[in-house]
Amino acid sequence: MSRITIALSKGRIFTETAPLLEAAGIRATEDPERSRKLVLATSRPEVDLVVVRASDVPTYVRYGAADLGIAGLDVLREQGSDGLYQPLDLGIARCRMMVAVREDFDYLRAVSRGGRLRVATKYLNTAREHFAAKGVHVDLIKLYGSMELAPLVGLADAIVDLVSTGNTLRANHLTEVEEIMKVSARLVVNQASLKLKRALIEPLLSAIGGASAREAGHAAA
Ligand code: AMP
Repeated sequence: MSRITIALSKGRIFTETAPLLEAAGIRATEDPERSRKLVLATSRPEVDLVVVRASDVPTYVRYGAADLGIAGLDVLREQGSDGLYQPLDLGIARCRMMVAVREDFDYLRAVSRGGRLRVATKYLNTAREHFAAKGVHVDLIKLYGSMELAPLVGLADAIVDLVSTGNTLRANHLTEVEEIMKVSARLVVNQASLKLKRALIEPLLSAIGGASAREAGHAAA
């Protein structure tokens, strides 16, 4: 019997995906927050979960090491989604990708003067495209975490980062100045797997899609 491997990351994506997978009869037999195992069996013997870094999910799926994956639009846009079929917006792990600056920094004035802005981010490609489309000259500084610190210590004029509640920005006297995109988690599928394992994958997609549409309906009600 053919097998299905689903790649996803721990934390918010795993927690919010669990009820959707459950609608397809898939329940992890161990809690990834507690287990050190990287391959988790599920209540369906032909389905395994692999727990990877969020930014590695597209790579596992692109190379076919996982048939399906769940990744944020931030990661997919930054890395490009060549070779990945992207059938479902799961509507979970929602946030926004924003440009933010110190509260005392006049962003509009800096932009209208046409000088170069220093921007810290881990989303170099997305930030480059965004500022190029606006005709804003930027020097990009790659960081791997805690982007919010960069403007506070003079490393950058602005950051490009994900914002959910806005609490982290407020706590650090930063403010949002531009929205780059709205982000939610997407289900991605390896294109060869979709052809070769269609009989297994299609029912999964419709169960997961149905559950996410019901959740969205409840959230809107
Ligand atoms: P918040 O304080 O709720 O606005 O969250 C902001 C912090 O959480 C930032 O450091 C973001 O990088 C991170 N963050 C917010 N939403 C997400 C998400 N969907 N996925 C990963 N990180 C996120």
